[in-house]
Amino acid sequence: MRIDVVSIFPEYLAALDLSLIGKARASGLLDLTVHDLRDFTTDRHRTVDDTPYGGGAGMVMKPEPWAQALTAVLDGEGGAADPGGTTAGDQRRPVLIIPSPAGEVFRQATAHELAETDHLVFACGRYEGIDERVALWAAERFDVRPMSIGDYVLNGGEVATLAMVEAIVRLIPGVIGNPGSLTEESHADGLLEYPMYTKPASWRGLDVPDVLLSGDHGRIARWRHEQQLTRTAERRPDLLPPPA
Ligand code: SAM
Repeated sequence: MRIDVVSIFPEYLAALDLSLIGKARASGLLDLTVHDLRDFTTDRHRTVDDTPYGGGAGMVMKPEPWAQALTAVLDGEGGAADPGGTTAGDQRRPVLIIPSPAGEVFRQATAHELAETDHLVFACGRYEGIDERVALWAAERFDVRPMSIGDYVLNGGEVATLAMVEAIVRLIPGVIGNPGSLTEESHADGLLEYPMYTKPASWRGLDVPDVLLSGDHGRIARWRHEQQLTRTAERRPDLLPPPA
């Protein structure tokens, strides 16, 4: 998979060199490039923002640097590009994710869907966001997906991009050593995960539930499923189907 990230704070994305994502890059499973939006400005001050039409607080990101940056990403500047596969209707069109609190909510199902794609591009907004025309212009070349990581407002798209990239890349076959970890975790089957414990069996007066020490795999599986249902009902009742 190829991922390009465009941001005015490329150093924010340095964490993508660490841990499992860093290993996926080193092993060639992931080709990830971070681009500085200011490299695609033409004025002395490398300006990326301006005042909003219609008035109001804050600044808006200017469209032209984004058009230049996204065109360069498609042309392969700063990364190996496939200039083919970008025409409308082509299944291999790159996906342009625009992080936004006003976007579709990113869920585990979204991560699975995007883990199947060849090329993802993340456009990290700042200030009040990116001029709306960028998404319209980009729709000729990309499948454009404004995407929210939750109902709260961050200062920029970088943290949202980090979260989405991590959720997507860990699903690429070979990135996680034990693929079983991906099936037995929260949201894999629509429920939250059961509680986990490790040694010692007794710690500061708190004991691991007896069933987990029993060695009876059938009982353990039943107990874990009950715990999943209880925990989901308590913490996230919205995930459970409505009562018939
Ligand atoms: N004016 C925008 C609004 O009210 O919808 C909020 C802009 S926010 C201060 C700046 C940038 O942070 C956004 O363009 C987006 O890239 C990012 N951002 C903020 N909250 C986000 C969220 N919940 N999910 C994804 N990205 C978010």
